[in-house]
Amino acid sequence: MARIVMKFGGTSVADLDRIKNVARHVKREVDAGHEVAVVVSAMSGKTNELVGWVQNMPKVSGANHSIYDAREYDAVVASGEQVTSGLLAIALQAMGINARSWQGWQIPIRTDNAHGAARILEIDGGEMVRRMKEGQVAVVAGFQGLGPDNRLSTLGRGGSDTSAVAIAAAVKADRCDIYTDVDGVYTTDPRIEPKARRLKKIAFEEMLEMASLGAKVLQVRSVELAMVFKVRTFVRSSFEDPDAPGMGDLLNPPGTLICDEEEIVEQEVVTGIAYAKDEAQISLRRLDDRPGVSAAIFGPLAESHINVDMIVQNISEDGSKTDMTFTVPSGDAEKALRVLGENKEKIGYDVVQSESGLVKVSVIGVGMRSHAGVAATAFRALAEKGINIKAITTSEIKISILIDGPYAELAVRTLHSCYGLDKS
Ligand code: ASP
Ligand code: MG
Repeated sequence: MARIVMKFGGTSVADLDRIKNVARHVKREVDAGHEVAVVVSAMSGKTNELVGWVQNMPKVSGANHSIYDAREYDAVVASGEQVTSGLLAIALQAMGINARSWQGWQIPIRTDNAHGAARILEIDGGEMVRRMKEGQVAVVAGFQGLGPDNRLSTLGRGGSDTSAVAIAAAVKADRCDIYTDVDGVYTTDPRIEPKARRLKKIAFEEMLEMASLGAKVLQVRSVELAMVFKVRTFVRSSFEDPDAPGMGDLLNPPGTLICDEEEIVEQEVVTGIAYAKDEAQISLRRLDDRPGVSAAIFGPLAESHINVDMIVQNISEDGSKTDMTFTVPSGDAEKALRVLGENKEKIGYDVVQSESGLVKVSVIGVGMRSHAGVAATAFRALAEKGINIKAITTSEIKISILIDGPYAELAVRTLHSCYGLDKS
């Protein structure tokens, strides 16, 4: 017997038939004798609709929040998950399963007060565990919690993944299964490279990079939590027949296991290729080469909540002037240029240049730590295809390369095959 947390995303609960199908997945695990807690998202499209309603309301005049009261935003958008938790509990009860819905505040899932993007602080799993031991299935509304002001809070878009992993950690589950509309994590995006393979296992750190770099399977925060609390997390499909052979396999269910690096015996050097579209590059020319220049540039950008990614500074030729290049999401480029313009005197640069529509492709793998030549292989392969590299950054387990947008797909396929990822 095991304790399992099962999470179902928006497409898995998109309509009443899908919710009944989810109930069959839950029944399979209950019938096998496991203790089960379920976490659900809102029906697909619902959260977008709710957010849209809030955005179309009149704005409060003279209030110190520029758009709307984030506490009321949370009150509205948290409702999507409330609906699915109740509907799934009903579907389970109709199958003879003892099930009960839980809202975030009923557990409670305590969060900070960053309404709209709250972080989980504490979960009291005691009552849930007691009921699970009695055979009751807890159906938890994901995405929501209770702030310090005793008001509903939500965890940011995609946050029900984080709810699931956090609950799995709180109740010390043996496994957290994230059911979605794809059957696992792939070596790269299969829509770009049909030869992409489903990974059997991926290390927490690699998944963190994949998720941060645009592989939208999981909310980044959920992977961080899984890594910290060592929650064995499976990404698997809810669209497979719930009763197909192997679906209830305790140790090797179909899907991708996100786990500790040590658990991966046959570690490849490179695990996957990720990409992030819509990057913009900004260069400041002929800056003074003196202490404090970087702080003068990136301080004001950070204060304006602009997320700076790659940063490259040239070594100056004569010890007095230098160039600084960095990337931001294209959507933030205009704002960044405005901030830099406002701070021109303080920073002390000559001209600013910018380019949008760039793409960052990344090669990821913990095996890089112990292998030389991984970067050189990428550079050679891209050169053979005539793809120009605009900037490079590396970490222990990742190489990120900035290129022109139109080359994105070619670059992804080239990198995927140069490390043999297309061969099983
Ligand atoms: N329903 C929320 C969203 O769409 C949370 C989630 O699905 O993870 O962002
Ligand atoms: Mg999601």
